[in-house]
Amino acid sequence: MTVIPYGRQSIDAEDEAAVLAVLRSPLLTQGPATAAFEADLAAQVGARYCVAVANGTAALHICMAGLEMEPGEGITTPNTFVATSNAMAYVGLTPVFADIDPDTLNLSPVATQAALTPRTRLIAPVHFAGLPADMPAFQAMAAGRDIRIIEDASHAIGSEYAGGGRVGDCRHSDATIFSFHPVKTITAGEGGAITTNDEGLYQRLLMLRSHGITRDPARLADAPGPWWYEQQALGFNYRMTEMQAALGASQLRKLDRFMARRQAIVARYHQAFAGLNWLVRPPETPGQSVCQHLFVVQIDFAAIGMTRPEVMAALLDQGVGTQVHYIPVHLQPWYRQTFGTVAGQYPAAEAYYDRALSLPLFPAMTDADVEQVITAVRGLV
Ligand SMILES: *Cc1c(COP(=O)(O)O)cnc(C)c1O
Repeated sequence: MTVIPYGRQSIDAEDEAAVLAVLRSPLLTQGPATAAFEADLAAQVGARYCVAVANGTAALHICMAGLEMEPGEGITTPNTFVATSNAMAYVGLTPVFADIDPDTLNLSPVATQAALTPRTRLIAPVHFAGLPADMPAFQAMAAGRDIRIIEDASHAIGSEYAGGGRVGDCRHSDATIFSFHPVKTITAGEGGAITTNDEGLYQRLLMLRSHGITRDPARLADAPGPWWYEQQALGFNYRMTEMQAALGASQLRKLDRFMARRQAIVARYHQAFAGLNWLVRPPETPGQSVCQHLFVVQIDFAAIGMTRPEVMAALLDQGVGTQVHYIPVHLQPWYRQTFGTVAGQYPAAEAYYDRALSLPLFPAMTDADVEQVITAVRGLV
């Protein structure tokens, strides 16, 4: 039996043609496809600037490096992929977690307020599963203080804030990062991007993406000839290839379609699971267009007399793949050893994790796939 995975990319003939065209063109890196993808993404989300990079983790890294923060602390959610807080450690910030709001599963503004110290330099909310975090609350906390805000929007391309505006327009933040890993809503194979409205940050990101080198005549004091470049900062090679950019741009053109399909599947799941008292559905957002990356349910395993591994095995038996997002980051061995984090420190994130299970959600799911998932889940009890 074929298994419906929890997520999968949708690649069509247009995507294939876009990548092939680049392969037959003169430039495989640092060419027009990357610039075009950046312009498309900036326009799509409503930001002034966009820098495309090799992956979402590289986006987080140079975004944090480019903000040139003093040593101190960065606050984020334990309910994320390790990359969010790892990037803080890359730039010498101490990752500090603040607990989640159990209703939204996002970083709690109340817990974040309590975690603020004179050494707080950064707040990095993650729009978990695609639902935008409470950005106005974080913006208010940072106002008048030397605190930057980066949105980790790896799950949230296409989503709209509760108060309006598209995720990535940076109306509430210094910058927003995206990931185009194949499990995300659109893919570039691997890929990432930063959007910002800050011209200074944009210029630093361009340098940091490519070794800290510039060839821009406006930035060179004295160029003896056309070969000249200067390394003016310590940067990295985090460039996106032209093949990745062509795929990303082709996928971006399908974002509205992907979103509509995801929203239809989410609506059907809500309807089908509404009556189950042993299962908590993700928050609904009437009147707000959210592009959900994950459909995470919370199951009262004790109530149904099954462990999570037993439930995962039973669903797999019915051809339904599942996953768990996320093991709270503060419980990872490196965090325990390096920062002394311990179990019990973030009770809402840990209670959520104990019950969490991500069900299949991707645009290529057929209606029959969706019904197969529903039948399998309802059939657990
Ligand atoms: C996927 C993801 C990342 C990292 O992106 P990569 O492209 O895999 O490096 C960072 N944060 C979150 C929340 C993610 O889901």
